[in-house]
Amino acid sequence: MQQLWAPWRMQYIESDKSGPCVLCAKPAEGDDRRSYILERAEHSFVMMNIYPYSSGHLMVSPYAHVDRLAALDDATALDLTRTLGLMHPPRSGLFQKAKQGHSVVAVELIRRH
Ligand SMILES: [Zn+2]
Repeated sequence: MQQLWAPWRMQYIESDKSGPCVLCAKPAEGDDRRSYILERAEHSFVMMNIYPYSSGHLMVSPYAHVDRLAALDDATALDLTRTLGLMHPPRSGLFQKAKQGHSVVAVELIRRH
């Protein structure tokens, strides 16, 4: 495959991202169902990516707005790792990325076909 075509992402790609950080704003709203938050821990949470490249894309994020995971304090790093362990199925891919300067671990669930 030379090019991944995911037209459902156009709404996100073309949207104004100058507003508040979504990874800070959504947990603070307190409506987890509406915000696609699946799990909460003391320092981290699991949220569905509503504009994924492929299905089964979750984000495990700290509540703390940091631009790199290495900047997390020890308690938050441990909590994030444990939350990630809850979501980490036998076949998945992990990568670190930042959305609006908020570092997050993205979990791609890999399905067997
Ligand atoms: Zn943030």
